[in-house]
Amino acid sequence: MTTLTVVTVWQALSISQWPESWLRLVAYAPYAVMILGGFISLWLNRIQPFLVLLSVLLVNILFSYFAPAEQISIALSILFTILSFLLPLNLLLWGVLPEKGIHNHSFNSLAMAVFVAQGLLVYWVMSELNLHWIDAISMQVFPGVDFYHLSFASTLSFLLAGFILSLKLNRQKQLRVFNHSLVFVLLLMGLALNQYMQPGVIAWVSSMVGLIVILSLVLDSHHIAYTDELTGIKGRRALNESFMGLGKRYALAMIDIDHFKNFNDTHGHDMGDIVLKMVAQTLDTVKGGSVYRFGGEEFAIVFAGKTAHSVKYELERLREAVASQMIYVDAKNKTKASDKPVNVTISLGLAEPDTKHTTPTEVLKFADEGLYKAKRLGRNKLIHSFEKPTKSSPKRNSKKTA
Ligand code: GH3
Ligand code: MG
Ligand code: MG
Repeated sequence: MTTLTVVTVWQALSISQWPESWLRLVAYAPYAVMILGGFISLWLNRIQPFLVLLSVLLVNILFSYFAPAEQISIALSILFTILSFLLPLNLLLWGVLPEKGIHNHSFNSLAMAVFVAQGLLVYWVMSELNLHWIDAISMQVFPGVDFYHLSFASTLSFLLAGFILSLKLNRQKQLRVFNHSLVFVLLLMGLALNQYMQPGVIAWVSSMVGLIVILSLVLDSHHIAYTDELTGIKGRRALNESFMGLGKRYALAMIDIDHFKNFNDTHGHDMGDIVLKMVAQTLDTVKGGSVYRFGGEEFAIVFAGKTAHSVKYELERLREAVASQMIYVDAKNKTKASDKPVNVTISLGLAEPDTKHTTPTEVLKFADEGLYKAKRLGRNKLIHSFEKPTKSSPKRNSKKTA
């Protein structure tokens, strides 16, 4: 995204050297990119990017409508002033309002009303507004400086939008890249509008902005598809894909929370969810491996390029870390001893490829066998699938095998 931004800025600054034919072509580019981006947004059931792209597209349409001859006129400079004030506020609005999907009729009506109101405002300003007001809204930040053209009002509106959107960046987990892209969109459109007198700049930058939004949608969708929603760590699909890149040497661990059904029954499912997240976060501190939620209360760790022996101590560290983590159960929950901290433990199975288990899927099953041995041996244990179980009889502790 940064690379795309740098290329956009670099080319925007040297657009005057572009051949005439490129400039003619780039005038159509925003329409193509925005239509593509619009379809992708709708297909992904995302209204925010759709509205952002629509706002940028409308800027292009208005500029080409009011300045078809690409000459600097009073109309063009008024349009520039009003659009450079409104665009950041639109980007802010569509970025800050929650993502409602494309089927929320009241939200869609609101969005349409906002656009219609702005359309009327622009029309009114262009046709009716008296020169006194135009002078006021066009007040320059740096009068007489020829590289900064944004008015005082537009500068404030860009700064406000940039500030609020940056604040929001880390809030929304799943749509992270799109939120980042909005800051880039804002910066680039600020640059484009500032250079509005240069033919082709707005069209070029808008097209690249469209591409950045599309890229952010693809990256966010990838994130959603590969991340487990509850725990925030990678999910089963990502685990399966990680198998494709494994060489000959690797170790796999299967992990399962002990007596988790009991925990849920005693403390409630919501508390269970919290604990599941805590365990996932602890496992995610693993050094030299990647952790995945396998499903339910089971996790897998992939150690690429490592032998099982070399990761045993790290897994023991994780086992101890989970067991020693104290959980304070909410007093509203069912448990009577609610103010006493409780803890959960995990059982682990570890395996690596050998003559019988050659594919990652087989090795994972082998690790799973180790896990169930650990359960039979009393839980809160790590079993290396290479090792024979210790003398303590499995039968004695085999009350429960899930
Ligand atoms: P064992 O020590 O043999 O693994 O016993 P267990 O109770 O952990 O195993 P079992 O397979 O019988 O039960 C797994 C439980 O995990 C059942 C289910 O309620 C709980 N669980 C699975 N996924 C989730 C989840 O996403 N949230 C919560 N809160 N609980 C879950
Ligand atoms: Mg289980
Ligand atoms: Mg379990």
